[in-house]
Amino acid sequence: MAELYFPLKNDTSRKIIHIDMDAFFASVEERDDPELAKHPLVIARHPSDTGGKGVVTTANYKARQYGIHSAMSAQKAYELCPQAVFKPGNHEKYNAVSKEVREIFHRYTDVIEPVSIDEAYLDVTVNKKGIRSAIKVARMIQRDIWDAVQLTCSAGVSYNKFLAKLASDNHKPRGITVISPEEAVDFLKQLPIEKFHGVGKKTVPKMNEMGIFTGADLYEKSEMFLIQEFGKMGYSLYRKVRGIHDSSVSVTRERKSVGKEHTYGRALTTEEEVLAQLRQLAEKVEGALRRVQRHGKTVVVKIRYTDYTTVTKRVTLPYYIVKKEELFSQARLIWEDVGGIEKGIRLLGITLTNLDPMAYENIVLPLWEDRTY
Ligand SMILES: [Mg+2]
Repeated sequence: MAELYFPLKNDTSRKIIHIDMDAFFASVEERDDPELAKHPLVIARHPSDTGGKGVVTTANYKARQYGIHSAMSAQKAYELCPQAVFKPGNHEKYNAVSKEVREIFHRYTDVIEPVSIDEAYLDVTVNKKGIRSAIKVARMIQRDIWDAVQLTCSAGVSYNKFLAKLASDNHKPRGITVISPEEAVDFLKQLPIEKFHGVGKKTVPKMNEMGIFTGADLYEKSEMFLIQEFGKMGYSLYRKVRGIHDSSVSVTRERKSVGKEHTYGRALTTEEEVLAQLRQLAEKVEGALRRVQRHGKTVVVKIRYTDYTTVTKRVTLPYYIVKKEELFSQARLIWEDVGGIEKGIRLLGITLTNLDPMAYENIVLPLWEDRTY
């Protein structure tokens, strides 16, 4: 543990911007139908159309005044504000806008880390326009986004991702907040503990019991104490409250496809075996899709026979799929269409392409976990 006693280093040389679109889906709908802006607006199917299922993907600021927020059940939103307008999301439209926004980022830098459909980190330390001030870059991006898509966003500017994200959240909508190295610790000390990324709903009560309610309380705790109580997160929080967070803006290439294939040591010789294997592959593909939070429209099945002839066939659906049952039933249809068992099967594969980011309502698992708290 000797390394714990080395003085902490803080890299303040970088210029990081976090851009967060304001009430994104709701703002897109208001832009396209200004009448909607006059009402509390909830992007979700009306709970009476879904038997109470469904999740709020976005609420406009009027709806937020009633306590409605993203990831809340649509039913709860309805109870809080029965007169709210409920509108189902149009994800193709939001994806198209998101893509336009991303193209604007690329005018300034290619070091972009998309966090979700409406949020991204940009490293503008070195940028394509040669502008030294990251604040100026952030303002230009806000203006460019408004000019291109008539939507507002909030920007946070700092020397690391953790602070940039807190900064963009500090003043919404249309805000811009800058946290300089000199201001970072004071800013962090006044924050409620739940604002620290990683401190979840389970951790807050534990922190409170220890007398930790704000960044200032956290700052007082020793590194050893935080590591003993919170493990890896404690290590990271000790640094974060001192404004230290070295994670780089990682350029994640857009995933174009997610697929799984398997080569069989003993060739498959019955329909039942093939279907069982397709079912397994569908399950794996679903798992991989959920990890990257993508869904897609084109299913590709690959079949290689023992004589090494290979058949691939793709089917494009008019809607997105992600679930293993849907993947399996599409794969099965393709198999029934082009597959044959006579020669024996050496390899099977299922791939989903034509991918787009999933919206909240499609990400089932984390939401259900949240609701149990
Ligand atoms: Mg947003």
